[in-house]
Amino acid sequence: MNLSSLLRPNLKNLTPYATARSEFSGDASLFLDANENAFGSPVNLEGIKNLNRYPDPFQIKLRSAFSKLRKIPRDQIFLGVGSDEVIDLLLRMVCIPGQDEIIIFPPSYGIYEVAAKINDVKVKKLFLNSETFTIAAEKILKAVTTKTKLIFFCSPNNPTGNLMNKEEMIEVCRKFQGLVVVDEAYIDFAEKGSSMLSERKNFPNLVILQTFSKAWGLAGIRLGLAFASPAVIDILFKIKSPYNINQLTSQVALQAIQKQTLVKKRIRTLQKERDQLILQLKSLKGIKKVFPSASNFILFKVLNAKKIYKALIKKGVIIRFRGNDSMLKNTLRVTVGTPEENKRFLPALSSLL
Ligand SMILES: *Cc1c(COP(=O)(O)O)cnc(C)c1O
Repeated sequence: MNLSSLLRPNLKNLTPYATARSEFSGDASLFLDANENAFGSPVNLEGIKNLNRYPDPFQIKLRSAFSKLRKIPRDQIFLGVGSDEVIDLLLRMVCIPGQDEIIIFPPSYGIYEVAAKINDVKVKKLFLNSETFTIAAEKILKAVTTKTKLIFFCSPNNPTGNLMNKEEMIEVCRKFQGLVVVDEAYIDFAEKGSSMLSERKNFPNLVILQTFSKAWGLAGIRLGLAFASPAVIDILFKIKSPYNINQLTSQVALQAIQKQTLVKKRIRTLQKERDQLILQLKSLKGIKKVFPSASNFILFKVLNAKKIYKALIKKGVIIRFRGNDSMLKNTLRVTVGTPEENKRFLPALSSLL
């Protein structure tokens, strides 16, 4: 991959916005540079400081903490307002609107297509195999044209729950000249060794997305992570909005990193609950198929999914109807809840089958 020729031409000579804090870094006792309100925030939150101050545009503290936790160099870590922001930035980084295209593999996460459309970028869809929900590198590489700038894998895939084949993704990284994005939002629920993170060193065109929204239990703070070569990370920093990660979010995330043990314990509990729920769903009469899951949700097939979905709503139980996808006719997706929630869900579902 040649990053400078992959970049959107208008970004090649971009001078990024210089924030007050990017012009001065170091210790000072008097900060009168950013037109902040020195009287402070009218709201006080325990454990949260500096709400009257602009956050660090480079998130040095938070990225360092994450770097230490996961043993990934800081210059290979980017933070976004959820993965959603990173997906949008990647599109804006390499795709010329009205001209370039991306490749996605439905049925998958809906955001890739919507974000592409917002940016006036074409979407080429290669459908996953309807049995295995995977796709061969050969097929992908054949579909690539000079206008293809980004390929989005989702592994584990939402809504099917399975991992994509690593060898096939690696083959695409090796042969494709654009960026290969692997969205690993659910990777912490998969078996160890399923992540593509270690391939980062071999492929400067590989971008891995993770998030605080799922395993970390912090969807509300909107914090997404991207891991990539320093050159790619550097460009993301140049084109993001200067203060994208706010004070509240960074301080909560820093506190969460201190609670790694609790987070890991909950992941193990969730995995156990998921495996048990799969078995329980399989034992219910009227369930046609339960798909394997490497995530914190389960996709399953019934006879009349829409009807069951609606009847569950009447009982106050909300799951996701996924049957609109041609490949996923009559499927429903349920998120694995707490043991108590799962115990409530099963009889509610079973009474409708
Ligand atoms: C939930 C989810 C995310 C997380 O998005 P955030 O913007 O980080 O909350 C990313 N990708 C997939 C496939 C998801 O299902």
